[in-house]
Amino acid sequence: MSLPLLSTEHYSAFIYPNESAGVIAIQPHRLASDGTSSNRPSRPRITGQAILDDGTVDYFEKASDDVQRHWKTKLGGVIAKHMVRMEARKQGKNWNGHYDFAFIEFPDGYELYTHKTGDRHVPRIDHYLFGSKYVHVFRSTREFAPHLLWLLRGKPMKPDGGRDCDCQYCDGSATQTDISRKYFNVPAREPREPAGGSNSKPRQKQPRAPRQTVPIPAKDYTKLSSNR
Ligand SMILES: [Zn+2]
Repeated sequence: MSLPLLSTEHYSAFIYPNESAGVIAIQPHRLASDGTSSNRPSRPRITGQAILDDGTVDYFEKASDDVQRHWKTKLGGVIAKHMVRMEARKQGKNWNGHYDFAFIEFPDGYELYTHKTGDRHVPRIDHYLFGSKYVHVFRSTREFAPHLLWLLRGKPMKPDGGRDCDCQYCDGSATQTDISRKYFNVPAREPREPAGGSNSKPRQKQPRAPRQTVPIPAKDYTKLSSNR
């Protein structure tokens, strides 16, 4: 069972007191999003017709539960560490949990897809987060984390009218290396997550399992925090 931990204008956090290490779930409020259902893959899943004439495949499908869990726990950890922890302290809330045990729902209008291309038996697999009305796709949790923080900060704008967001798409001066270092403690020399693209070598990319298994909470909390 979840209990409200804290709520801000832009998101609510819930704690699972019976879980070890204090798992938290974070629910962005409905308006804390730039999501639109019109930003979706141009090639939706074509069941039975996914095999092209040359025997290869090229199609999108909704990401599996495992992939969704990987993204949501990765992003939940970043938000817990860079946002919820400070907010809990500010509000005098007692959260002793570790931010490795966090989970966040995608903002309203977002949807994670898997793109399969190439060999029909061993296709290349890439994951893309669609939905933002400003950014066509985010190719990794590292790309999306700063933009998610911006959404949960209430989408602040700069005096010049630009989005005051650290992501590499909104802020042209931000490199993904700097962003990864800032939010994911990635050493300076570690190569960034491959972004995919037609020139990349075919490969199979499987999500790494989270360091700990984070139970995906039942969605009972969503009713408390948004009008979905
Ligand atoms: Zn952004």
